[in-house]
Amino acid sequence: MPKGLVSVFTQAGTPFDLREYPTPEVEAGGILIKNTGAMICGSELHGWRVEGDRKPVANPKQRVLGHEFTGVVHSLGEGVSFDSLRRPLKEGDRVAFPFIFPCNRCYHCVRGEHHACQHRFRRNMAGLEAYPYCDGGMAQYFYLQPGHYVYKVPDELPDQAIPPVNCALAQVLFGMERARVHFGDTVVIQGAGGLGIYATAVARDMGASQVIVIDGQPGRLEMARKCGATSTISMRDFPTAEARVARVMELTSGIGADVVVEVVGVAAATIEGIDMVRQNGKYIDIGNIVPGEISMPASKVIGKQLKWFGTVHYNPWIIEAALQFLVRTKDKYPLSNIVSHSFPLEQINEAFEFADWHGKEEGTVAQRVMLVP
Ligand SMILES: [Zn+2]
Ligand SMILES: [Zn+2]
Repeated sequence: MPKGLVSVFTQAGTPFDLREYPTPEVEAGGILIKNTGAMICGSELHGWRVEGDRKPVANPKQRVLGHEFTGVVHSLGEGVSFDSLRRPLKEGDRVAFPFIFPCNRCYHCVRGEHHACQHRFRRNMAGLEAYPYCDGGMAQYFYLQPGHYVYKVPDELPDQAIPPVNCALAQVLFGMERARVHFGDTVVIQGAGGLGIYATAVARDMGASQVIVIDGQPGRLEMARKCGATSTISMRDFPTAEARVARVMELTSGIGADVVVEVVGVAAATIEGIDMVRQNGKYIDIGNIVPGEISMPASKVIGKQLKWFGTVHYNPWIIEAALQFLVRTKDKYPLSNIVSHSFPLEQINEAFEFADWHGKEEGTVAQRVMLVP
């Protein structure tokens, strides 16, 4: 088996270490992937940054980051000749796959609720000590264990459109599908980062009549308009929660939105978002994976008869749906060229510095950095 370059993450404030590891033996039913691109996701920047009162850990687990990534088939294990939709699969084919591995043998999995599998895992959470060791998107190889889901990438899509498919795009698509956004709905999107831009385009594609996007950066709002937003609310023009809620009410004839999608990851935005939902409407909560607390009157949710959809991870079929969405909308929205800068894997430390710097710069368009292993 080939050896591959691996970027090892230890903890915030410690530079990545580049090492070479052997790739795992490809079992019957398994697939070895040669990675071709890994995005730096906001969640990874969060773990990498030294912030707040975070203290160094004594014995940190070493692991490989990168969950928003893609590659080509390097070698197929015995018995694998099709992708998950029974289309012929061969070495060199471009593929997309979920980065979460559901167990397929549990209460939730047998009901098709793979996103809720309590035994699912992210390979790069396992650490370098556990088999198959060196896997993650920020490495040259990744291993798909026997039976994992894999989808051929349509020829129409450029390479750089694919890495966000299994994180940002799949996540918002699954959340909005799960909550059933209806034809004609008014949808509010809180946050126009990577997830928010996808959510905007997905809402339009699902038939929303109105898509209202809220963010503080003009460049991001401009991107949202290019991707289907019918109105935008700038936090500069509407600096308070009350003003933003009032603006949404004004845009919806005093009714509120059928659906509000939270992809901002700021706890304080949650209550504001709930206030924008109409009576008997839906709140899709995706971004609240970072620490933070909210407090509100216990009667708030019931008084509104609100349906609250907390959503993490997704079911495997959504990957194909995401790929088809990109094909269908490729001449409509600029979603296939969201990578703004690429760095070779060897420059991972510089790439993280760069991606982070961009995040802080006032008024820049949401820049997205890709590592090329
Ligand atoms: Zn991510
Ligand atoms: Zn399971």
